[in-house]
Amino acid sequence: MARIVVTGGAGFLGSHLTDALLARGDEVVSLDNLCTGELRNLAHLDGHPGFTFVEHDVTEHIAVDGPVDAVLHLASPASPPGYLALPVETLMVGSRGTHNALGLARAKGARFFVSSTSEVYGDPSVHPQPESYWGNVNPIGPRSVYDEAKRFTEALTMAYHRTHGVDVRIVRIFNTYGPRMRADDGRVVSNFIVQALRGEPLTIYGDGSQTRSFCYVDDEIRGFLALLDGPHTGPINIGNDGEFTMLELAEVVREVTGSSSPIEHLPLPEDDPKQRRPDLTLARSLLGWEPSVALSDGVARTVEYFASVLP
Ligand code: UDP
Repeated sequence: MARIVVTGGAGFLGSHLTDALLARGDEVVSLDNLCTGELRNLAHLDGHPGFTFVEHDVTEHIAVDGPVDAVLHLASPASPPGYLALPVETLMVGSRGTHNALGLARAKGARFFVSSTSEVYGDPSVHPQPESYWGNVNPIGPRSVYDEAKRFTEALTMAYHRTHGVDVRIVRIFNTYGPRMRADDGRVVSNFIVQALRGEPLTIYGDGSQTRSFCYVDDEIRGFLALLDGPHTGPINIGNDGEFTMLELAEVVREVTGSSSPIEHLPLPEDDPKQRRPDLTLARSLLGWEPSVALSDGVARTVEYFASVLP
């Protein structure tokens, strides 16, 4: 049993991670400024003896009383429309927020776990992407506010590890989906499901031939815990290596929902990566972890969630 601080605790991944930690008997102090996170993701934990929520912006100094065994730093806008709407805040939480979270871990002698992203690979020229690939990121394009924030996050984390001996873990997350994504989050899985349930056209950006690899949230969180609990610093890719075009994803969503929504093509966002698939060799060999939920099963579970929350 450990006492764990989770930043971004009211977010999609932060709240699922909190549930998994509490389920195994850990105590969780959850911090979030609610800029993209939502209290309803934590409402079921009201009164839980191991759980505390503090509304706090981690770009400001983080004060937590008492011992802390691990700091899990997940705070950041993460969907493209989310970080494009909050560009400076995204850079600040990746830089100042990460600095504060690392400072807390160092002061408490705690392990530091941080969520990085497949976006550090940018529009990759190596496929699939192993952790050893340094990426192809436009440093001044609109997406740079997220990509460079996360690259800086990794650099600062490694600097604290080398300079101050902080025990760190870096996970590179590939497109993850599931219950508690926001209906207006803007990512492709939630967009398609919400559109299908409402009988609206599925919006495909560009010709739909670009690929992503979609990981169901339960698999992703299990991967986080394997990395957190193990001895490897990372970075380690955690995602699903099944690769789909957006046209194929639209078809899966139409099949699962039984929707006959038409496809509507909209312009491709600037610097949208053409392909993405994790090389999971390290995750499999070092963590003994691999994803287990097939896309159609995960989409079905996510459809069930949205069907229950949509007005
Ligand atoms: N996309 C799409 N329709 C949507 C939302 C996204 O075709 O309604 C595309 C987007 O252009 C990208 C892919 O789906 O090629 C994944 O987008 P998402 O925003 O989910 O995540 P990303 O991997 O780009 O961060």
